[in-house]
Amino acid sequence: MRQIDHFMPTASPAATRKHQVWNPSTGEVQAEVALGDAALLDSAVATAQRVQPEWSATNPQKRARVMFRFKELVEANMRPLAELLSSEHGKTVPDAKGDVQRGLEVIEYACGIPQVLKGEYTPGAGPGIDVYSMRQPLGIGAGITPFNFPAMIPMWMFGMAIAAGNAFILKPSERDPSVPVRLAELFVEAGAPEGLLQVLHGDKAMVDAIIEHPAIPAISFVGSSDIAHYIYHRGAEFSKRVQAFGGAKNHGVVMPDADLDQVVNDLAGAAYGSAGERCMALPVVVPVGEDTAERLKEKLIPAIHGLRIGVSNDPDAHYGPVVTPEHKARIEQWVTTAEEEGAEIVIDGRGFTLQGHENGFFVGPTLIDRVTPDMKSYQEEIFGPVLQIVRAKDFEEAVRLPSEHQYGNGVAIFTRNGHAAREFASRVNVGMVGVNVPIPVPVAYHSFGGWKRSGFGDIDQYGTEGLAFWTKRKKVTQRWPDGGGDSSNAFVIPTMG
Ligand code: NAD
Repeated sequence: MRQIDHFMPTASPAATRKHQVWNPSTGEVQAEVALGDAALLDSAVATAQRVQPEWSATNPQKRARVMFRFKELVEANMRPLAELLSSEHGKTVPDAKGDVQRGLEVIEYACGIPQVLKGEYTPGAGPGIDVYSMRQPLGIGAGITPFNFPAMIPMWMFGMAIAAGNAFILKPSERDPSVPVRLAELFVEAGAPEGLLQVLHGDKAMVDAIIEHPAIPAISFVGSSDIAHYIYHRGAEFSKRVQAFGGAKNHGVVMPDADLDQVVNDLAGAAYGSAGERCMALPVVVPVGEDTAERLKEKLIPAIHGLRIGVSNDPDAHYGPVVTPEHKARIEQWVTTAEEEGAEIVIDGRGFTLQGHENGFFVGPTLIDRVTPDMKSYQEEIFGPVLQIVRAKDFEEAVRLPSEHQYGNGVAIFTRNGHAAREFASRVNVGMVGVNVPIPVPVAYHSFGGWKRSGFGDIDQYGTEGLAFWTKRKKVTQRWPDGGGDSSNAFVIPTMG
């Protein structure tokens, strides 16, 4: 059985606890990953403390060169990385390439670190006084990441943190841990000092050790909301800087004037792509008006029947299996709950098996109509290939539904009416909005972050916000007297006159 170990320069003791890593397409266990503990973290922190001062003293241009070589190496290894990712996660290989590519875009942004780290400077803020600010690294950053983007989300975090001068400890998901390790190996190959980026596998025990460690001042978390909330609170108890992003239930509002063929095409990808295991998936569609709902449903049904489910390396598959057998069971249970709540199961993906791969964790595409806001199956995240239709009577209700939902990650509106789109974008209580864009993940030089139970803390991921999260700003007020003495009253609070 393939063994997946931590990635750190010091030898790690033989693991006493391990976690099984599935191949979701075949339903077989393909590897075991070591689960670390607090002692292992201590040793990683000691290494990070040793290498970080020199790294932060390395000028930003040289740090950028390492990021650039890393980007080139990841690009050169794109195919094997995507195949490895796909084999543990279950998403298709082209989709896995997208996972790597969206992370690389943050690395590309981090290549510009000399530019984005430049501080502010005001000469002559007072008589002979200049004021400037600089961003300094925090020391050691930690990232705790989910299974669903095992390349992109680690790169969001360590790309920004390390370029800014920090060392980084990554605790990836134990369900698909190989790609984060491979990325860390490539980072060393790119010229990064060993120990600058370490990957420590683990579960709650490792996460708790990270939260409690006195030498780790900042934690970035992405995963489900209850755990995000837990980490945000516990982190505050230990006086940490924490950003914690949680689950989602993104709505796609379809106005009566929308191009429905385009909407159906967008919805098929956004609801069923990656088997719905994306925090920016669109699992809820909100047609405005009964007529829109009927026309949309009529077009959606054949499109969904046309979806091809396959093993993750099937080049023709639209989507592959879900990540674990437990997750498959949970998704199917949500469909049953929706049925019990009185929703209409239009297309039922429960009990789906793929011929020749009967043990794989496949869930058929599911369409549920007549879903209402009081239903538990609407209120909670399903995270599977399940699209729910919630009919809104008018635009006001379509703004209200996502605004009042507990999650506020992403939302989209499909319309040809610029005024409606503008109104919607400005009024809806959700962090990321798409106008005729089903998955509005902001580009690397903007920032990513949801609201309400999709994001705890007030600083987003990557872009200038990412830089702010991984640095502290020092403000310097300086005066170089001309030697003639200063007769001002030192007992009065200084003002600039
Ligand atoms: P998860 O919450 O189960 O796991 C996330 C991380 O937390 C993993 O590293 C895991 O090892 C760790 N963890 C698990 N149980 C823990 C516990 N009890 N205490 C402390 N740490 C624990 O999430 P997941 O299933 O890997 O990922 C899917 C979830 O992530 C979905 O809810 C999805 O919406 C969310 N997600 C959110 C975003 C976003 O940006 N908002 C992005 C991607 C995924």
